[in-house]
Amino acid sequence: MAAAGVCGPTPLVFRLHEGAPELVREVLLERGWEEYDEQGQEEGGWNLYWRTSAFHNSDYENILPWQRLNHHPKTVGITRKDCLARNLKRMRGTFGSGLYNFSPTTFILPNDYTRFLAEYTKHRLKNGGRSGYWICKPVDLSRGRGIFIFEDIRDLVYDSSVIVQRYISNPLLISGYKFDLRIYVCVKSFQPLIIYMHQEGMVRFATEKYNLTSLDNLYSHLTNTSINKFGPFYTTDKERVGQGCKWTMSKFRCFLHSQGINELFLWQKINNIVTLTLLTIAPSVPSSPNSVELFGFDILIDAKYKPWLLEVNYSPALTIDCQVDVTVKKVLLNDLVDLMNYKSMDSVRQRGYLKQKYKRPCYLGSQSLRSPVLPKSMCEHHPGNKKSYSIHSTFSDSMRFFPSVEMNRIRTARNSISNTKRSWSEASDIESEFDDRNLSTRVSPWQASRQPAGGCCKLPAIHIQKYKTPKFPWDPKSQDKSTPPLRVGDFILTFPFNEVTLKASWDKLNVKTAVHEVHKLISQLASGCSHIQKRGTEDELDRCKEKKDFGSLFWGPTNPPLLSECHLGKGYVGTS
Ligand code: ADP
Repeated sequence: MAAAGVCGPTPLVFRLHEGAPELVREVLLERGWEEYDEQGQEEGGWNLYWRTSAFHNSDYENILPWQRLNHHPKTVGITRKDCLARNLKRMRGTFGSGLYNFSPTTFILPNDYTRFLAEYTKHRLKNGGRSGYWICKPVDLSRGRGIFIFEDIRDLVYDSSVIVQRYISNPLLISGYKFDLRIYVCVKSFQPLIIYMHQEGMVRFATEKYNLTSLDNLYSHLTNTSINKFGPFYTTDKERVGQGCKWTMSKFRCFLHSQGINELFLWQKINNIVTLTLLTIAPSVPSSPNSVELFGFDILIDAKYKPWLLEVNYSPALTIDCQVDVTVKKVLLNDLVDLMNYKSMDSVRQRGYLKQKYKRPCYLGSQSLRSPVLPKSMCEHHPGNKKSYSIHSTFSDSMRFFPSVEMNRIRTARNSISNTKRSWSEASDIESEFDDRNLSTRVSPWQASRQPAGGCCKLPAIHIQKYKTPKFPWDPKSQDKSTPPLRVGDFILTFPFNEVTLKASWDKLNVKTAVHEVHKLISQLASGCSHIQKRGTEDELDRCKEKKDFGSLFWGPTNPPLLSECHLGKGYVGTS
């Protein structure tokens, strides 16, 4: 995929907050971006602001149309261990534990202590005095800090808020080593919900063989790199695992194939875990079309090939410890930047520069964040006409803030875009038209520099693209142009995945319908598999094909088939 970078005097500009990963700087510089100079450059003169920690409300409120932030607001509902436990419990209450059964039983202490004690005692009585294994984790720490495993409740000691979770004591092992999967997920938008999963994730190994008789050996029970890289066997060439503690996901897939395992069903289950988890917070995340978020989902696979969600990481580590990190994370970041689709943003920036009509801020939020402060001209021309601007794309949302004359021109050109629900593709058409118009009216950098500095938006000059931004490929088989791009680099669209979920994610997300569709999908895949396993004829395989109404890609294998065309043959892993 070509990089969206620039040459010439006016490249895209990135702004890194203190502590942002060095790799982000490296990748963006390689793409021809420039680093924002806090002292020397204009206040709004950046295109991407990257922070490891959360942004302030004011960052969302003051966002300008050509700018991107690397976090959505208010996602803590899945990224803090106690909030995740609470939200999943709520969803289990609403949709049943049959579907929301992918997270180990969890208690939030001290509040849930009595409930935990009851569960612990129940297990002891049932299992002849053995309660099973439990893991205790501080709610707001990461990288394995403060974690311990215990069997006896007398060993449970804590001095801060923690979660106590059932320890998955039968993990799938590779040559005796425990591992988990780091799955990279990009939420392009929460309203509508658009989820992409990256095909090239990571497998993280413990560096000592799994052993339930030494619960305090963290090198055997925890798979965090931050812990294992300090282990005595980190550099040892370990049986099958090799040196270090990481594999690429591709290598893991080769391993599964070498074991005669058809992993499609496993990936689909992981895919569902991701969707069902994000659905727990999606309705409560304020709209912030200029944000994207990269989450790290940690998935443990047990000996029966059931995937379990361990946690969701906010700002997953982008540090480079080994070659696997380089291979995975560089591609990941490049694909993430491609997903941000900077072409349209730059056009917007240019338009803003030329018109100099509107003033900051161009905040697009809603719900619990402060009400947006609209540019005065917009308030005058579109009183209370919120519905007219319901296009769900970054670009089109940002267009709300242009003077009405611009809207009118586009309306004429596009046969009235207002008062109509727009599709992604329609928005995208407008986008390209807008870009083209800008190209024809583009002023040269020197002309731009002569523009009077009027208004408070003295903007950076227009950039000229060196690398061609990827044209998002629509599914050529499908004439339905209202779907988001199915694939951007190695990011595969996983939600919405059919017409029903596409509709359900419009306007106000219909969680119930979305959950129901996920349920239907997994049941279809599961019954298809067992069906095929029993009979195994070509006929049966054909029947496994679902109705082709969307053509979403099956996340997982390197060259994913369409979801509707997946053949789940012999040796599939897991059950529904
Ligand atoms: P942290 O945010 O500190 O990394 P995690 O929840 O990811 O916390 O746990 C760290 C590691 O502990 C995981 O990568 C995994 O190896 C192990 N682990 C966590 N929870 C469980 C569990 N319920 N069962 C088995 N192993 C677990």
